[in-house]
Amino acid sequence: MAILVCGGAGYIGSHTVKELVTTYEVVVLDNLTTGFESLVDERATFVKGDLGDPEVVDTIFKTYSIDAVFHFAANSLVGESVENPLKYYRNNVGATLVLLEKMIEYNVNRFIFSSTAATYGIPNSELITEETATNPINPYGRSKLMIEQILADMARVHDFQYVVLRYFNAAGAHHSGEIGESHDPESHLIPIVLQHLLGEREQISVFGTDYETSDGTCVRDYIHVTDLARAHILSYEGMTGGKIANQTYNLGNGAGYSVNEIIETCQQISGKQATINYAPRRAGDPAALVASSDKISKELGWQPTFDLTAIISSAWAWHSK
Ligand code: UDP
Repeated sequence: MAILVCGGAGYIGSHTVKELVTTYEVVVLDNLTTGFESLVDERATFVKGDLGDPEVVDTIFKTYSIDAVFHFAANSLVGESVENPLKYYRNNVGATLVLLEKMIEYNVNRFIFSSTAATYGIPNSELITEETATNPINPYGRSKLMIEQILADMARVHDFQYVVLRYFNAAGAHHSGEIGESHDPESHLIPIVLQHLLGEREQISVFGTDYETSDGTCVRDYIHVTDLARAHILSYEGMTGGKIANQTYNLGNGAGYSVNEIIETCQQISGKQATINYAPRRAGDPAALVASSDKISKELGWQPTFDLTAIISSAWAWHSK
């Protein structure tokens, strides 16, 4: 039995594939619009195609004996989703529906879904638990929440089980040094700061200095990509072992860092000084998002193993290579 990883050529998908291939047969499906084939571990079978194309999904389910689908493939930029909502609903919701329909048709009944802290919107508590009300404030967060709701509806009537993983801010690089965080164009804070410190971009912009946070800049909870990858495998094994089904888990470190603190830590680790441009707020950004991951810790024994310094050190090692 194999695991189908949709979006396995992207940042978080490729890191999860690297962990999976040590134990499981893996098939990666990716349309390479934002992913890179070079990130896919060579022990996995790579199929270039779109999960919203029923013929592509048919071929995969006919060719391979798929036990579970890990679904990472999505557009994931908050600002872009505000500018171009239909792209987000088409790709993140519409395409996923094709995949889910095909899963029911071929009786593939385990699904692990990449969701996001953006489903919470502006949270009504400092530490976000899975009980915190969801109320996304941008189309990206809404597109993810829609799929979460669809999964719950499916599990009620079909032989179908899922785990939703709500990531906070994924960061860092694989310990092998072979893969790391790379988007084109890059919009994420840590790679942008590191690229700037390496002289690869002129300056960095801090989006908003008037938030209600300790220093006025946005606070986020950064989580190492390998810790995220391990949570997927624990979730899958939890489902196959009959321990859990149809659960939603937060994945974060439980500690919030402001944009200024991230820049400061990057400067310390690199030994270099940044040139900072203080800019207006970016559309769609809540002030602070910090996770409680107690639920997955209690139910599956997951614990993050990288703190902020270890996360940024791994990213720096990869970017400076
Ligand atoms: N950010 C910033 N400058 C940048 C990129 C990001 O100030 O060049 C801020 C952004 O507004 C947010 C935080 O850094 O508050 C993390 O943004 P990122 O895009 O990395 O992840 P997101 O929180 O959107 O998933």
